[in-house]
Amino acid sequence: MPVAATENGFELNFHEFCAELADLDQVTALLGWDQQTFLPPAADALRGQQLATMSALRHRMLAGAELERLLGGMSAREDSLEEVDRALLRVMRRERDRAVRLPQRLVTEYARTVAEAHQIWVTARRDADFAVFAPVLGRLVELARERAMHLGFGEHPYDAFLDEFDPGFTTEKVRAIFTPLRGALVDLLGRLAAAPGQPDDELLRGHWPEQLQEQFGREVAASFGFDFSRGRLDRAVHPFAESMGKFDVRLTTRYQTDFFGSAVFGVMHEAGHGMYEQGIADELVRTPLGGGASMALHESQSRLWENLVGRGPAFWRGAFPRLVELFPDELRGADEDAFLRAVNVVRPSLIRVEADEVTYNLHIMVRFELEEALLAGSLAVADLPEAWNARYHDYLGLVPADDASGVLQDVHWSAGLFGYFPGYALGNVMSVQIMDAARNEAGDLEAQFETGEFGALHSWLVGNIYRHGRVHEPLDLLRRATGSELDAGPYLAYLESKFGRLYGLEGSKATANGAP
Ligand code: ZN
Repeated sequence: MPVAATENGFELNFHEFCAELADLDQVTALLGWDQQTFLPPAADALRGQQLATMSALRHRMLAGAELERLLGGMSAREDSLEEVDRALLRVMRRERDRAVRLPQRLVTEYARTVAEAHQIWVTARRDADFAVFAPVLGRLVELARERAMHLGFGEHPYDAFLDEFDPGFTTEKVRAIFTPLRGALVDLLGRLAAAPGQPDDELLRGHWPEQLQEQFGREVAASFGFDFSRGRLDRAVHPFAESMGKFDVRLTTRYQTDFFGSAVFGVMHEAGHGMYEQGIADELVRTPLGGGASMALHESQSRLWENLVGRGPAFWRGAFPRLVELFPDELRGADEDAFLRAVNVVRPSLIRVEADEVTYNLHIMVRFELEEALLAGSLAVADLPEAWNARYHDYLGLVPADDASGVLQDVHWSAGLFGYFPGYALGNVMSVQIMDAARNEAGDLEAQFETGEFGALHSWLVGNIYRHGRVHEPLDLLRRATGSELDAGPYLAYLESKFGRLYGLEGSKATANGAP
C-alpha cells in the first residue's frame, strides 16, 4: 500500500507502522546491549535518559490515534487476512490495549520507583539488610497491584503479570504444573542425597585459561548451529543474549578461570536463545512478530541446548577429546564418564543462578509462591524474609545465613519484574516435551551428537519452533510442535532417568532420554 498524505502530514499504512515499531524496539535493544557491555561508566545516566526517551516514543506510538485508525481498518477486513496478518493484528491490539489501559502517571511513577529501588537494593544486598529494601519494595508491590487493576485479570491479580511475559498462562495453570512437580522434585532430591554413587566436581577445578574456554565455547555454539556471520559473543557481568533481528544476534558470557563449567554452559544457554532469534522466518523481519513466542518458550530453547544436549553423555562422547586437546594439563588422563558426572552434580544451594538441573525449579517455586502471595495481599513485605527462609528449609533443606544469600539475591523484584520467574521453570518443563518430539521425528539424535552432528535437531527446531516467531500464542505453538498440552510428566521422567543412572539409584526407570 502506498503512503498516503493527509492534512496531518504523512500517514503510515499498518505494515509500515509495524516496521517502524520493530525498528524502534531493535534500536532500543542495541542501546541496552551496549549499556551492559561497552558503555563507558560516565555515560550511565545519559544512557538511562536515552532509553527513557525510546520508551516514551514507543508509548506515544502505541497509544496514539494513528494506530487506533490502522487497527480499525485492519479489523474491518479481519476475516480475509492471511495467518501472519491476523497474528500481527492480534499482537498489535494487545500492545495498544496495554498502552492505553495504563495511565501515564502510573507508568512514570513505576519507572521512577524502579530506578530508585535498584540503588537501594544494591546497598541492602551489600549490607545483607532487608529492612533497608522493605519500604521501596512495599511501594513497588502497591504500584504493581495498581497496575494489575488497570490491565485487568481473570481470577487473580498475578494473572496480569504472567500474561505479560507468557500470554495465555494463568496463576491456576502454573500452580497445576508446579504443585505436583515440587513434591516430585523434593522426593527425587532426597533419594539422590542418599544414593550410593555420589559424584563430585573436583575435576572442574584447576586452571582454565579464559581464551581457550572462549575458543571451545565458540566451536560448540557454531556446531550447534549458531551463525557467527549474523552474531557475536562478548563478555558481560550478567550474561544475556540480545537480538536486533535475525541478522544481528549477540551473546554474552563471563569467564571463571578456576572452574570449568559456568562460561561454556553459559555460552550453550545463550546460543540456544540466539539460534531461536536467528531461525525466525524472513517474512517476519521488521515486524513485531519477529521474536520468540514468550519468555518460557525462549527459556525452553536455552535449556534444551544447555542441559538436554550440552550436559548429556552423547554430546561429551563427541566433544571430550577436543576438550582434552585444548586443556591437556587439566584433563590429561581424565575419564570421560567422571567428567560427565562432574558437570551433572546435584547439590542443594542457596543461590538460584548456581543451581543444578534438579534443584533449579525449586528456587523458582519459592519465588512464584512468594510473589503471588505478595500481589494477592496475603503476605506482608515485612514477613517476606521469614517466608523465604521457611520455604528454603522445606524444599532445599537449607536456611540462608543472611538476607544477601536469601531474599535479596535476585535483581528482579527491585526491577519491578513480577511474574517473570515462572517462565524459567516452565521453560525447563517445555524443553523436554520439545526434545521428545524432535527425537520422534529427526532420527537417532544421540548417535548424531556423538559425531558432533546437530543439524537434524537444529533444522527440526527451526521448522517447528523458531521460524514461527510470535505468529502463534505460546501454548498453541507448543501444541503444534509436540502434539501435547503443557505437561511436567516427560520432564520428571527425564530427570528420574538421567540422574537415576548417574547416581546409581535403585529401580530408576531407564528411558531413551539422555541416558547412555
Ligand atoms: Zn535464559
